[in-house]
Amino acid sequence: MKFDWYNLFLKDLDLSFAFEIVLRTLLMFAFILILLRLSGKKGVRQLSIFEVAIIIALGSAAGDPMFNKEMAIIPSLLVFVVILGFYRLLTYFSAKSERFESILEGDPMYIIEDGMFTIQEETDNTFAKDEFFAEMRSRGIEHVGQVRSAILETNGQVSFLFFSDEKVRPGLPVLPKPYNKRSRLIEKEGDHACTFCAKVSNRNHSGKCDRCQHDEWVPAIHTTRIG
Ligand SMILES: [Zn+2]
Repeated sequence: MKFDWYNLFLKDLDLSFAFEIVLRTLLMFAFILILLRLSGKKGVRQLSIFEVAIIIALGSAAGDPMFNKEMAIIPSLLVFVVILGFYRLLTYFSAKSERFESILEGDPMYIIEDGMFTIQEETDNTFAKDEFFAEMRSRGIEHVGQVRSAILETNGQVSFLFFSDEKVRPGLPVLPKPYNKRSRLIEKEGDHACTFCAKVSNRNHSGKCDRCQHDEWVPAIHTTRIG
């Protein structure tokens, strides 16, 4: 079978259509910028689920008329207006009602309380521990005992609140080298952190964590935060 390379790369492209594409792209790009300015949003570093849905809905309406001869620009602007109107409407109701907002955007969630992981089923299934450890390291955190609370915000960011240096306690290390010393066997007496819930206890024998019933341990570390 002969593959049609010409069709794949060029199809009906000629000089006048190429010029039309330039014009369509500039126009649509300008409309996208106007729409985003009108949405009232300041930046897009972190998007909530609701805002990601808006972006997906806009994507095809914004992009297709750039290169598709068959598509006129006004219908796609109509899509813009509808989405923008809907977005403004929903944000208006979110501002009015906390309940509506939490249905739309989800709720912030505690991940660490009092130097230990919170134990709740919804986090266990959706939450990737290694990703969270990486996040902690990027904030200069060496172990969970430095953290008073960590809250997963609805935009996916994590807010950390710290213990003051005097109150830092031994905790579960999040650095790869000490964390990789985890094991079911405890050979030397000392503070050990449960790898599942981060509870620290002084132990000299293997066994289950009395808080979460898991039985994997790692020697706890007790460093204070620097900087
Ligand atoms: Zn535990």
